Amino acid sequence: MTFNQVRRDYLLDRWVVIATSRGRRPTDFAKQQIQQAKTATCPMCPGNEHMTPPAILVYLKSGKHVRKAEDKNGSRHKNWLIRVVPNLFPAFSPLQHKVDSKQIQKNSNLRAAVGHHEVLIESPNHDEHPANAAIPQLIHVINGYTDRLRELSAKPYVQYVSIFRNHGLEAGASLSHAHSQIIATPFVPQIIKEELAAAQKFWKQNRRCVFCDIIEKERNGPRLVLENSKFAVFAPYASVNPMEFWIFPKKHETSLLEMTGTEVKTFAETLKDCLGRLKCLVNDPPYNYGFHLALSKQEKDYYHWHLEVYPKLATWAGFEKSTGVYINTMTPETAAETMRKVSSS
Ligand SMILES: [Zn+2]
Ligand SMILES: [Zn+2]
Ligand SMILES: [Zn+2]
Repeated sequence: MTFNQVRRDYLLDRWVVIATSRGRRPTDFAKQQIQQAKTATCPMCPGNEHMTPPAILVYLKSGKHVRKAEDKNGSRHKNWLIRVVPNLFPAFSPLQHKVDSKQIQKNSNLRAAVGHHEVLIESPNHDEHPANAAIPQLIHVINGYTDRLRELSAKPYVQYVSIFRNHGLEAGASLSHAHSQIIATPFVPQIIKEELAAAQKFWKQNRRCVFCDIIEKERNGPRLVLENSKFAVFAPYASVNPMEFWIFPKKHETSLLEMTGTEVKTFAETLKDCLGRLKCLVNDPPYNYGFHLALSKQEKDYYHWHLEVYPKLATWAGFEKSTGVYINTMTPETAAETMRKVSSS
């Protein structure tokens, strides 16, 4: 009798059962794609700019350069490279005028959902998802993330900025046009808070960044997916999702704002490569990705930004939802090995 393994996350008190007894091969996880109903008119496609609120930020081509602008006075910029617009049904809304802090923080269990909820339209081309986007276009997307991160994180009521992407109907993308979302919240979300606390504890004891240690270990282990001059990609030890992978800058950086131009380019290439491998291996599955980063100066020494990618190849049911313990039927070692072998093109 051999037992399944129960693994704990590097930092979070989160346990995963690695259950491989069903003997499924990675390719068995490929699902039939659910075709998204194509709406007659896509509000994100060029020509339909008036279907969205005015853009907060547009990138426009200006010779060899990019000009940044916003929509003003009811008009909409055309011929854009990327657009950032407010979400039509925001989860968090900005302060309209100055209110006192009591209105935001009502008591310890209640506060107003003050913040921002934006949509970044990644390309004028409806289907230009990161796995098949041109690298210069993907660079615009990443620069768009950092521009919004810089502005939103400077607001006094913003404690965290979540940048994430839903791909496919089953992963929550209600519109199929390539887009990401940005939500600025008046509190630090739970998972980030736990990672921060664990990283701070490690720092106090060892005077080292725990993530730098994890990267060093995973670079030389069986869960490495790929490594280049600037980034390391691996399947985390206690992966919750089959084929889950995390992308880390090898240089110690707290948030995306510290990336140089070369790093942005390499990050675009790395992201495209990994998502391309995933697409090729398991039939363009639905997935979510989200950045984990820290915004305050105090966290600079011990927090290390990364992107976590969660393919949606399994369904969480009663056990997972009621306990927070996950069952993953693919070992991260197998996921990494399979991803290493496949080429994205
Ligand atoms: Zn479209
Ligand atoms: Zn680090
Ligand atoms: Zn994380």
